Amino acid sequence: MPALARELAALPDQHRLIWIDARARHDAIAAILTASERNSPDLRRHVARVDEAVSAALAALGLPRGLVVAVEIHEVIALWSGRKVPDCRLLFNGPALRHMLYQERNPDDILRSWVHESLHGRLPFHAEAATEARLHTGYEEGMVEGLARYVVRDMAGLRPLERSYRFYVAAFEALASLLGTPPRRSGAISGNIRRDRCGQSSQTQ
Ligand SMILES: [Zn+2]
Repeated sequence: MPALARELAALPDQHRLIWIDARARHDAIAAILTASERNSPDLRRHVARVDEAVSAALAALGLPRGLVVAVEIHEVIALWSGRKVPDCRLLFNGPALRHMLYQERNPDDILRSWVHESLHGRLPFHAEAATEARLHTGYEEGMVEGLARYVVRDMAGLRPLERSYRFYVAAFEALASLLGTPPRRSGAISGNIRRDRCGQSSQTQ
């Protein structure tokens, strides 16, 4: 298993723990899911614990998240496990996360999903984002999922499932390799200007 990247090893204790300690990772996610199921007032605090660990890791690795106005757990039956929506909220699907944690026993994959949606959150979507995604299928997802695996698997040494967007990830990795672009800079070869009504991001490309 790859060693923890020095950028993540240097995180403050409360953030680093989520990345290095499998039990702490599992328990932090389980606390979110229990609080969500019970509609507990502690939900926000439990979500923040994981979210801040993800956000801090991305910043440390030079992939800072942009404007995210809220991170919410939705108790719905749906095909998605996570989504970034145009008003700059990150949504996670409670039943899907429970399946990943308790049936698949893979909290690492939940962190991969959290990183994936956070990378969509590097900038707000622009008004044509949905049309663009249809016209250029995989252009956004290949880059985002490839970087999510880079962060979670290569930098943190975790073992997420790698079942999403496999073809698009391979295409992006091939393109980055041909261009001699290091993984963390591969966002630079995508069209990553995405701005819309949810605010002014201070992020630059
Ligand atoms: Zn995505």
